Amino acid sequence: MLTQTIRTNDLPLQCPCCGEYYLHHDKVEVFSRKSEDQEGIRSVTQESGRTFVDTDMRDNPSRRRDGLKIHFWCESCDKKSFLTFRQHKGSTYLEWANASPGQAVL
Ligand SMILES: [Zn+2]
Repeated sequence: MLTQTIRTNDLPLQCPCCGEYYLHHDKVEVFSRKSEDQEGIRSVTQESGRTFVDTDMRDNPSRRRDGLKIHFWCESCDKKSFLTFRQHKGSTYLEWANASPGQAVL
């Protein structure tokens, strides 16, 4: 099977707060549900290498389906931001969500 990499552009990801290119991801959360509106599983991988699984779905970007949340911090402005994927009615949406600096990280 042949695969192909498709890039939207050759620029790195920009910080959604200041526009600079010095973003670092330090945590990834994957939210999985067996079916719509059901309880689910959250898988978390942190920068330290610590990984764990629980049933805390409060931060799922999708209220009813699966979601993915990548935590970033910016070297230029020191703000935290989140790149999210959320499923809604059979479609997948990619969005930025921001948080204030110093927000607690698990
Ligand atoms: Zn920034």
